[in-house]
Amino acid sequence: MEKDGLENVRGEPVLVPHWIRGEESLELVTPRRMSLPMLGLGGSVGTPPEGIRAEVLVVSSFDELALRGDQAKGKIVLLNAPFTSYGQTVTYRVVGAVAAARAGAVASLIRSVTPFSMRTPHTGQMRYDPSVPEIPHAAITVEDADMLKRMQERGERIEVTLKMGARRLPDVPSRNVVAEIVGWERPEQVVVLGGHIDSWDVGQGAMDDGGGSVAAWEVVRLMHALGLRPRRTVRVVLWANEENGLRGAYAYRDIHRAELADHVLAIESDAGVFKPVGFGFTGSDEALRMIEEIGTLLDRIGAGTITRGGGGADIGPIMREGVPGMGLSVDGEKYFWYHHTDADTIDKLDPREMAECVAALAVMAYVAADMPELLPR
Ligand SMILES: [Zn+2]
Repeated sequence: MEKDGLENVRGEPVLVPHWIRGEESLELVTPRRMSLPMLGLGGSVGTPPEGIRAEVLVVSSFDELALRGDQAKGKIVLLNAPFTSYGQTVTYRVVGAVAAARAGAVASLIRSVTPFSMRTPHTGQMRYDPSVPEIPHAAITVEDADMLKRMQERGERIEVTLKMGARRLPDVPSRNVVAEIVGWERPEQVVVLGGHIDSWDVGQGAMDDGGGSVAAWEVVRLMHALGLRPRRTVRVVLWANEENGLRGAYAYRDIHRAELADHVLAIESDAGVFKPVGFGFTGSDEALRMIEEIGTLLDRIGAGTITRGGGGADIGPIMREGVPGMGLSVDGEKYFWYHHTDADTIDKLDPREMAECVAALAVMAYVAADMPELLPR
């Protein structure tokens, strides 16, 4: 960023949770032996070194688990919930271990949260509840979840050995990465733009959220290269720790609390850098009308559709303090194919589509920072 000529390039300190996956495996023992691809879920406890060998109970929902709760005791519960939407289905990943532990299970597995699978397990954040024991929690593939379900339907006894070396360590220092183009007229008024710089340990995090981070950086690099200095400051923030704690988002809010009244707009790109279609905006009606007008500049690349409601995980805390926010909307068909897997690698990014994301972000950020009137709250 310094080499690109950006201003006020710095790291802002954030303490982040430290979770280590360790060695892990899942072996089907009966009705036949086979190794099942799996990923421990972020924040999970591990198993004893010899693993946990137990019978599996397959259920397709929390409701079914409640109905069959008496059969879960001492078993490994597989929550085989089909994907509906990410927002709905992710609940099984986040609190599945709590529901399984409440029913007396010794570990829990989920069907990976995805609409499409090439036998790839998906990781992601989970959490515990102090009222029930912390049990190991991992994801298996859609294919294998369905296979175990068929075995159960045939009346076969399913037994597996789950080994997880996962452990949690004390918080460690990290940082949000910040760079600016300082406004020439109202430098204290800020348009914030960014993605998150952390990713899961599997794959490269190319889509989630390397693409979004680099696209936001490219926006200010282009402005600088073109000699464009807007009236207000454009600040790129690459947030730390979106995936397992949102600590970067909260640190930004706390460090910049006194300036939030002068934050004009916050823009996040964290839905993949696929073909952009527009933005989802959260703010006043008056501001929405102005954003729609800016959107017309992007109609030529099909990226001018402004919908009501939108933002992002990293800008959530400052939006709750009153900052208008928006998220880049893209063709979302494939995002959850790769999300949080070993397959989230740079070859999945289409340079043309990513360039269009940069264009959409650049036009929106530049106009919001340079227009004579302030975007109203
Ligand atoms: Zn993300």
